[in-house]
Amino acid sequence: MILKHLIIIGGGASGFFLSSNIKTSNWKISLLEQSKNPLQKLKISGGGRCNVTNACYKPKDLIKNYPRGNKELLNIFSKFQPLDTLQWFEKRGIHLKIENDSRVFPETNSSQTIIDGLLSETKKNNVEIHYETTVLDLNNKDNKFEIITNKDIYYANAVVVATGSSKKVWNIIEKLGHKIIPPVPSLFTFNCNHPLIKNLQGISLAETDLNILNTPFKERGPLLITHWGLSGPAILKLSSWAARYLADLDYKFQLRINWITENFDDARELLTNYKNAHPKMDIYNIKIYNLPQRFWLNLLNHLNIIKKPLFEISKKEINRIAESLTNSKLDIIGKSTFKNEFVTCGGVDLKEIDFNNMQSKLIPNLFFTGEVLNIDAITGGFNFQACWSESYILSKQFN
Ligand SMILES: Cc1cc2nc3c(=O)[nH]c(=O)nc-3n(C[C@H](O)[C@H](O)[C@H](O)COP(=O)(O)OP(=O)(O)OC[C@H]3O[C@@H](n4cnc5c(N)ncnc54)[C@H](O)[C@@H]3O)c2cc1C
Repeated sequence: MILKHLIIIGGGASGFFLSSNIKTSNWKISLLEQSKNPLQKLKISGGGRCNVTNACYKPKDLIKNYPRGNKELLNIFSKFQPLDTLQWFEKRGIHLKIENDSRVFPETNSSQTIIDGLLSETKKNNVEIHYETTVLDLNNKDNKFEIITNKDIYYANAVVVATGSSKKVWNIIEKLGHKIIPPVPSLFTFNCNHPLIKNLQGISLAETDLNILNTPFKERGPLLITHWGLSGPAILKLSSWAARYLADLDYKFQLRINWITENFDDARELLTNYKNAHPKMDIYNIKIYNLPQRFWLNLLNHLNIIKKPLFEISKKEINRIAESLTNSKLDIIGKSTFKNEFVTCGGVDLKEIDFNNMQSKLIPNLFFTGEVLNIDAITGGFNFQACWSESYILSKQFN
């Protein structure tokens, strides 16, 4: 029997999870990877520990972590979700652990465990791997694909593109007629040199409300002050949701921060009550809302409120403090990368993909999975989960 030929382009998380799951006797499968070694991004992921997924098991809750692709992923996650990921790895003797914040890592704390597992499963499925093979062009003629690489020309009956955020490959796909949503960074920190945060690097605020001024983009959560500006979970999430909007502004905008997640009236009342209860206490020494002491002193300094007992603090000064605590407006002047964890939003337009099998709606037998698509998530293992789920659904097409 002459076997049909499937070519998978890209040996990252998506390409290898796909080849780990294809069990077929009807197809010859080749995987083309441009690097010398597979899964290079996965190797450095999660600080070398690989945050495999997140223990969020309800698809409706899970999709809330995907600024782009959430609607499309609902269907995918109803078929393969984080619990399936946990079971998939466990079944193959790769033990995973769930940390307190729901992130899932290999028990060994080493991404190499995941790499070894994926390579071993791929081997069982007789997938031919061609390293140092860079795809330079892809043509579709008479329902067959011609794949031009730096080494050879390959022919295939079906092609899966799993090349992550490769601009060169996006250009090739665009030439085939697909629309590419222009890539912009997602998941970054904000540069800011406002006096309110000057010299406060390392200080974190447990719960803050953030809002990009005059937009619906808002986020609640912990915030970290760094030597270049603002970071922490709330900032990263906001950067992800507003990624495209902030790129259009060239990352120059105003951020409204409520440092205490209380409204102005409540903050003013608390300060007034505090003043009445402790009139002799120095304004510099009071402790409210669990604010770090250095932050509190900086705020008073910024408002030019000098060291004095509370009974000398005027109503006007209380109003200014309450306003600053609940409604600070900081100029953001740029962005920085978060721990090298650059995630790109943008990629193949989701409208052109059939999410029942990850097939192109424009070109039969052309498939896509992973970061090559216009899908991305906030941190926490969600990006890999999208790769696993998409590749798993795709594998069913060939099994
Ligand atoms: C530093 C860092 C840490 C991260 N940590 C996490 C984490 O802990 N958890 C999480 O969920 N997400 C994490 N992410 C995101 C996650 O790594 C990606 O979502 C995921 O790797 C995407 O997988 P992919 O297979 O689609 O693409 P990739 O992993 O980028 O793989 C694409 C592959 O295609 C190959 N390729 C590209 N062009 C060609 C070509 N022309 N010919 C042949 N081969 C080609 C590339 O060499 C590469 O091997 C992290 C990202 C970074 C940058």
